[in-house]
Amino acid sequence: MKFIADIHIHSRFSRATSRNMNVEQLYIAAQLKGITVLATGDITHPEWFKEISEKLEPAEPGLFKLKSNIAVYFDKYVPESCRRAVRFLLSSEVSNIYKKHGKTHKIHNLLFLPDIASVKTLNQKLGSIGNISSDGRPILGLDARNLLEILLETNDQSFLIPAHIWTPWFSLLGSKSGFDSIRDCFDDLTDQIFAVETGLSSDPEMNWRVSFLDGLTLISNSDAHSPEKIGRECNIFNTDLSYPAIRTALQSGDENSFLGTYEFYSEQGKYHMDGHRNCKICFTPEMTLHYNGICPVCKKPLTIGVLNRVEMLSDKIKGDKPEKTHPFYFRVSLLEILSEICHSGYRSKKIQQYYMNVISHLGPELSVLDHIPICDIDMVGIPKLGEAIYRMRHGKLDIQPGYDGEFGKIQILI
Ligand SMILES: [Zn+2]
Ligand SMILES: [Zn+2]
Repeated sequence: MKFIADIHIHSRFSRATSRNMNVEQLYIAAQLKGITVLATGDITHPEWFKEISEKLEPAEPGLFKLKSNIAVYFDKYVPESCRRAVRFLLSSEVSNIYKKHGKTHKIHNLLFLPDIASVKTLNQKLGSIGNISSDGRPILGLDARNLLEILLETNDQSFLIPAHIWTPWFSLLGSKSGFDSIRDCFDDLTDQIFAVETGLSSDPEMNWRVSFLDGLTLISNSDAHSPEKIGRECNIFNTDLSYPAIRTALQSGDENSFLGTYEFYSEQGKYHMDGHRNCKICFTPEMTLHYNGICPVCKKPLTIGVLNRVEMLSDKIKGDKPEKTHPFYFRVSLLEILSEICHSGYRSKKIQQYYMNVISHLGPELSVLDHIPICDIDMVGIPKLGEAIYRMRHGKLDIQPGYDGEFGKIQILI
């Protein structure tokens, strides 16, 4: 069956997350968006693990669902048009901060496990290495290769996916504290890495320029810290609904099982270009080169963004395609589109009303953005919405690119 999965999110136990990141709100948000499989995130955190163990129950192999005696109280918040089964995948993100060959590395890794007992075992092991209770995304002074080894020893069906591999800070290939290849990081266990998360600031085409990524499945997730952000990037699967089937699809990259990704426009990502946020300097890689990587305002080194970093590690020209690729589709979230139409923030009452109005009539957000006919969208009666979605689907929009932690700005209607 065809379904959408967002397998990197955070609970309210991670730093800087919304209070609403609880199991019930995730259950609602997944349906409004049109997502069938959602990561639990933060499963290494004792309190979140407890909540997950209490409120979820096993469904298909390796997947979990909200207990029906809880779900029944929350179905009323989901319009009929959006109701669907929601499944959870046990997962967490770990921040590995450690020294290797004299250099400090800070990288984020996503962990996936097929059962509660394995999570318990893993949490015991990680708890003896560092503090896993202070943050939903624990910081461990543990070599990423060793984390992978511990994970596989815990359960050989578990897997690790390096998170947002290009962001300057905290990523596998990041300009600030990453590595120059996957092998430099995972050594003898490199073959166990079969997928990487491209992150908001890069798209598959940029990743195609780096040949050591050829053959890996490029996945995309929201890394959501609040329910509204769920699904802003996500993956399309066509498999049985089960953990083993999802794992196999990611591992094989089979084009009939992994159908591709929905992508944020990479220019919109907050580390796309180089620059300094406080100095209001946003540079292309060429301009950074011209200024020798130094900010003309404060004279300190610029934060090198994803575009530049890809350029540094690339060994192929733009447009060169690996043998196996998956389709990808750029999307702008419905709240953002409505926000542009109405000139008001996406949390405003009017926008929230419009949002619910659209999805109650037409179905979940991702269907509206993807394929609901424009004439049907026009029927909802929100001025310019059909036109804006048409333009978004066809890439007819302007983007002021993001840099140094500042999100890019999108303008769809001109
Ligand atoms: Zn992260
Ligand atoms: Zn500066």
